[in-house]
Amino acid sequence: MSSFISVAKRKALLKKLLVTIQKNESAISEALHKDFKKPPFESYITETHYVISDLKHTIANINRWTKPQRVWPSILNLPSSEFIYTEPYGRVLIISPWNYPFQLTMCPLIAAIAGGNTVVLKPSELAFNTAQIVTTIVEKVFDVKEAVVVHGGAEFTQSLLEKRWDYIFFTGSVSVGKIVAQAAAKHLTPVTLELGGKNPCIIDEGADLEIAAKRIVWGKFLNAGQTCIAPDYILIQAKEKYNFVALLKKEITRAYGENPEESTDFARIINTKNWQRLQAMIDPKKVILGGNSNEESRYISPTLLDEPDLNSEVMKDEIFGPILPILSYHDEKDIHKIISHYEKPLSLYVFSKNKEFAEKMITVYSFGGGCINDCMIQFANKRLPFGGVGHSGMGAYHGKFGFDSFSHKKGIVKKPTWGDVPLRYAPYKNKLKYIKKLLSWL
Ligand code: NAD
Repeated sequence: MSSFISVAKRKALLKKLLVTIQKNESAISEALHKDFKKPPFESYITETHYVISDLKHTIANINRWTKPQRVWPSILNLPSSEFIYTEPYGRVLIISPWNYPFQLTMCPLIAAIAGGNTVVLKPSELAFNTAQIVTTIVEKVFDVKEAVVVHGGAEFTQSLLEKRWDYIFFTGSVSVGKIVAQAAAKHLTPVTLELGGKNPCIIDEGADLEIAAKRIVWGKFLNAGQTCIAPDYILIQAKEKYNFVALLKKEITRAYGENPEESTDFARIINTKNWQRLQAMIDPKKVILGGNSNEESRYISPTLLDEPDLNSEVMKDEIFGPILPILSYHDEKDIHKIISHYEKPLSLYVFSKNKEFAEKMITVYSFGGGCINDCMIQFANKRLPFGGVGHSGMGAYHGKFGFDSFSHKKGIVKKPTWGDVPLRYAPYKNKLKYIKKLLSWL
């Protein structure tokens, strides 16, 4: 027996969490602003409101999700009634990154508590101020036996990973994801890995370039490009590149002004190490817009790079910053060559008026999730699973998918003691022909 949390208690805790977050909304927004100048509008839609809406959805559905689900019984088991029961895994470890530091700690916490687990939550040390407010909120809502926040960097996280957990939920980079998976394997602990990747954004000939430019600029430069599902690079039909680049430039200026450094709607890079990593990706010979930066304020302007080589720094790994490479293609073979050069991405986007082409792109490639004629908004629907495949991760969450990730499903058959069919019992002499006949009907 483990110290699982009852359904009534889970619901009460989630309600308390909701009220506490609502009371602290402006403090959360201020912490995010202190960490990387996250614009309050973006904090509202991608962090506080997102978490509040997740909480409301979970509270409204938890009774239904936790109820044993009756399934059609197998004819082989009759008379019987058959069910799927859900049970908590037990003690879970949640490790979070810095880029959506409130949402990516709170949403897994909500799902884990909904599943009845007890939680140790390890936020990223890099978003220090948000980690503090997360701690304050968790301490106000939960008893230490239910959920607790712990702090530290790589070494500390590795010491946590040495312990035995009943479930590990990790969001972060592919390289650390491998460390987590290895540590979990030692104890056969199940894991969800929410990782990253190089997300292609394909623009078909004849696509609505104006709307594509608007939506891509929003998706790419939100959070200063520090979003796991942001378009990583553009693949554009060679004939349309010139027009499209002009539209991108126009939209960037419309959104952030002539000097984005002065815009209050554009975030900063989380720390100097990441700023330097991004800086090294900007080859001045390839810059067609932006390329401006300020180390002290960790600013990098929205930057467009023209046709960088696939082996160049910017095309090696996930960019995770406000740099957008534009690559042109002539035919589908070119698209295939580039996309298949990389591991399976977390998302893929295609802008097209040709339904067949768009459908082909989303079916021939393997990726976490995506959109046709938009980007990032797959995130907004709790009825869609959110998670990667291959190197972009394993498992999924959001809405009921989160509850399911944090719950073990038990198949249960309930039998009465009457109506016992003797056919299955030994000795089997003369029974095989009857059982074969019976099973051949099923
Ligand atoms: P990261 O992997 O460096 O850190 C994530 C967490 O792991 C942090 O809490 C950190 O303290 C810990 N950590 C760091 N190095 C470690 C080590 N050597 N051993 C053990 N633990 C370690 O990731 P990050 O820089 O915080 O976040 C950016 C990455 O996260 C990007 O790759 C991005 O794509 C990915 N991400 C994925 C999702 C998703 O939902 N799939 C969401 C956001 C970010």
